[in-house]
Amino acid sequence: MQKHADLSDFTVITPTADIAVARHGGRAKCLQRLVRLEMPVPETVALSFDAVHRIASGQMPDTAAILSAFGPSPLVSIRPSSEDPDWGGPGAILNIGMNDERHAQLIERLGQAAADTIYLRFIQAFAIDVARLDPDMFEEEVANHEAIRAALLAFEEETDEAFPQDPGVQLGETLRSMARAWEGTTARLLRQAKGAPADAGLGLVVQEMAMGLGPAESGSGVIQFADSTTGLGQITGRYLSQSQGRAALSNGDEALYLTLDERGPSLEERCPELFKELVKWGGVCRQRLREEMEIEFTIEAGALKVLDAVRIGRSSRAAVRIAVALAEDWIIPREEAIARIDPRALTELLHCQVDPRGKRDVIAVGIAASPGAATGRVVFSSAAAQASAARGEACVLVRRETTPEDIRGMHAAAAVLTERGGMTSHAAVIARGLGLPCVVGVSDMTLNRRDKSFRTADGRVFREGDVITVDGAVGEALAGEVLMLEPALDDAFRSLLSWAEEACDIGIRANADTPADAQMARNFGADGIGLCRTEHMFFEEDRLTVMREMIFANSAVDREAALDQLLPMQRMDFIRLFEIMQGLPVCIRLFDPPLHEFLPHSRDGMRELAEALDLPLSDVTRRVEALSEFNPMLGMRGVRLGITVPEIYDMQARAIFEATVEASKRGDPVVPEIMIPLVSAKREVELVKARVDAVAAAVRIEKGCDFDYRLGVMVETPRAALRAGEITHHAAFLSFGTNDLTQMTYGLSRDDAGRFMGSYVQQEVYPEDPFHTLDVEGVGELLLIGAERGRAARKDVVLSVCGEHGGNAESIAFCREAGFDYVSCSPFRVPVARLAAAQLKL
Ligand code: PEP
Ligand code: MG
Repeated sequence: MQKHADLSDFTVITPTADIAVARHGGRAKCLQRLVRLEMPVPETVALSFDAVHRIASGQMPDTAAILSAFGPSPLVSIRPSSEDPDWGGPGAILNIGMNDERHAQLIERLGQAAADTIYLRFIQAFAIDVARLDPDMFEEEVANHEAIRAALLAFEEETDEAFPQDPGVQLGETLRSMARAWEGTTARLLRQAKGAPADAGLGLVVQEMAMGLGPAESGSGVIQFADSTTGLGQITGRYLSQSQGRAALSNGDEALYLTLDERGPSLEERCPELFKELVKWGGVCRQRLREEMEIEFTIEAGALKVLDAVRIGRSSRAAVRIAVALAEDWIIPREEAIARIDPRALTELLHCQVDPRGKRDVIAVGIAASPGAATGRVVFSSAAAQASAARGEACVLVRRETTPEDIRGMHAAAAVLTERGGMTSHAAVIARGLGLPCVVGVSDMTLNRRDKSFRTADGRVFREGDVITVDGAVGEALAGEVLMLEPALDDAFRSLLSWAEEACDIGIRANADTPADAQMARNFGADGIGLCRTEHMFFEEDRLTVMREMIFANSAVDREAALDQLLPMQRMDFIRLFEIMQGLPVCIRLFDPPLHEFLPHSRDGMRELAEALDLPLSDVTRRVEALSEFNPMLGMRGVRLGITVPEIYDMQARAIFEATVEASKRGDPVVPEIMIPLVSAKREVELVKARVDAVAAAVRIEKGCDFDYRLGVMVETPRAALRAGEITHHAAFLSFGTNDLTQMTYGLSRDDAGRFMGSYVQQEVYPEDPFHTLDVEGVGELLLIGAERGRAARKDVVLSVCGEHGGNAESIAFCREAGFDYVSCSPFRVPVARLAAAQLKL
C-alpha cells in the first residue's frame, strides 16, 4: 500500500477554508456554514472527491496527519458527503481511534459502562462495515469486559489478524472501505437511478467525537422545527441519554420527546437551558441557511455540540408550506419560493393521495391518466356506479374502455380503471376534466363482464363489490382500502399560486366544457378558457339523446327539429360560461364528435335509443351500422361534419352570438372566440367562415346590436401545420391540438396506444409517451413550422396549444421558447402549468 503525505488530501473546516459543494460535497459545505454561524461544532476535517477517489484506488493519505488535526489521541467519526444528499453514501462510522489503551483511559474519564459500550460498538462497526465480517458473529448487545474480549477474538479468528490497535490504521481502513463502497456497482446504479451522474464524487468528513456517553447529562438526538408531513412549524425529534449517533431514532421507546409532551418525558423538561439553546440554533439555521433543517446534536457532559444539519425531508404539501412561510418571513424572495417547488408536486396537493407510509398491494399497472387516489367497491357498468352512488357507497368503475354512455357512471364513481386506452383516450380526458383518479391501458387485467369480475396478472380474481383503490398518480390499482392523505388547498398553496401568476409570462388557460369546469378554472386562476369542447356539453344522458337524434337525422326536416332543441341548450351553456369567466377570453370549439363516442354500442343501448327516438329497434341498428366507420378518429369528425352538414355549425354559431348579446347586456362586452376543429385545407376554413359571418350578420340585425368575435383554427393535422400560411389568412388565431396532431404525426391511435406504449418506452423506442410529453423533434417541428408560416401570413396571429401537453412542464417550456401566447389544459392542471411556466422566467 502506497502512502502519500499530501496535505491537500484534507482540509480543516474553518470559516475561511476553501470548501465547495462541487469538490467536498454538501455535508462538508453545510458544516462550514454551521461553523461560520459559530455553532458549537466539534473539529471537522473534509476530504475532497479527488482524495476519496485516490483512496479507492489504493493511494492512502497520511492518516496520522489527519488525526493530528484533532489533538492528542482523539476519537473521530466519518460521514459521507456527496454532492446531493439524495444520492446516498456509506453509513457513518463512529469512535475510530478506540483501542485497549483508550478504553482504559475512558474507564477513568467516563466510567466502565460508557467505555465498554463505546469500545464494543466500535469493534462491531469496524468488523461488520469495514472488514465486512458476518454480522451474526458480532451481535452482542450487552457491553462488558467479556463481550469486548469475545468480539476481539472473533475478529482475530475470522481475519487471522489482531484487531487493529493503531488509530491511523483504523482510520485508513475505514476511509478505504467507505471510498470503495461508493465506487461499487450497486451503489453507482442506485445513485444513478436518483439522477446522479456516472462520475459523481464522494467527499468524507472526519469529525471529532462528542461523547454522548459518560457523566452528567450526556446523550444524542435530532431535532427539527417544522413537521415533515404538514410543513407546519412544530418541534419534533427524539433525544436518548447515554447514546451516540442517531440511536435516539432507532430506540424510540427509551428516547425522550423534545418539547413538553403528554406522550412522555421531554428534553425541555429535563434540560430546559440546553433545549433553549437548540431552539436558538434552529432559528439561526432557518434565518441564515434559509431552510428548515434537522439538527443532529450531542450533549457531552452537559454541553451542547452540533454535529450536523440536513434539510428536513418533506412531503409535497410540507414543501409548499415551508417555502411560502420562508418567503412570508422575508427569509427568501418569492421567486425563490416559486423555484423551490417541483410543479408536479402541486398535483399531489390538489387530490387525495395514497399515504406513502401505508402498505401497497399492487394488483394491476397501467397508464397514470388522471391523478389522485380513491377507494371503492368494484362496479362494471355505469348503471351499477349510479346505484352505488345512490346508496352513498364509493365505487370504482371498471370498464374495457369508456364511451359517452359512461359519463353518468363516471360522475357517480370515485375512480375509473380501464383495460384499454392511452393518455388521450375518452376515459383519460373526461377523468382529468372531472378531477377523477383514473388508470387506463391496464392490459394485464382480464375483464369478464359476464360474471362481473376481473383477473389480475398474478391470477387473483376481483368481483363486483370487492374493494380496490385506484392510484392515478402512479397508474396502479391496489387491493383493498389504503391510508390516504387529503388534498391541501390551503393558504400556502393559494399564495404560491398567486406569486406564480405574477411571475408568469405565458398565458395559462383551461380546457373547460361545463360551468363547473369554468368555475374550477377561475378558482385556479386560469387566464380564460382555451378550449371548450362543445360536444362534451352533451354527455349528460338527457342531452345525449338530443345529440344522437341530430346525428341520426336523415332528412333536413328531422335535423332542423333536432337542432331547434339543441339551440336553446347551447345558448344557455354559453351564457353561463361567459358569465362565470367575467370578461376573460372563452374559446369555443365547434362540434368535433368522433361518431363512435356518440353511438350506442350494446344491444341495451340501441334499445334505449330506439325508445327515446320512438323508432323501431331495427331502424336504429341499421342506422348505427350505416354510420359506423372503420376508423372513426379519421372519419366524419370536426370540420368535416361542419362542411357536410353545415346547419349544425350554423346552429352553434347562432347560439354563441345570441349568448354574446345576452351576456354583454349583463356585463362587459363579450368577444367570443370560435374555433374550427380538425382542419386540413384552407377551403374548409373559407366555407365555415362564410357561414359563421353570415350568422353573425343575421343575429346583429335580429338583435339590433353589434358585437365582435374572433374566428380561429385548430391545427390538429400535419397538413394544417404545413399549410398554416394560407390557412392563417382566414384565422385570427391558431390553436395546436397536440392530441390529434401527435396521433396523426405518429400514425398512432390515441385510443389504442396504451396497449404497447409501456413496452415502447421501456425499450426506448420513444423516450416517453408522446401523448403525455410533447415530441419536440417531430410534432414540435410541425408546431414550429405552423407557427412560423402562420406568423409570416399574419403578424399578430395568436398561437397556443390546447392538447393535453398544455399542462406538461417540458411542453410548456417548448411553447414559451417558440413564443406562443398561451397553453390550455384541464382545470386541475392549471396550477401545475402555472408554476412550471413561472419557473421558466426565473
Ligand atoms: C387535440 O386534439 O389536441 C384536442 C385538444 O382536441 P381533442 O382532444 O378534443 O381531440
Ligand atoms: Mg382534437
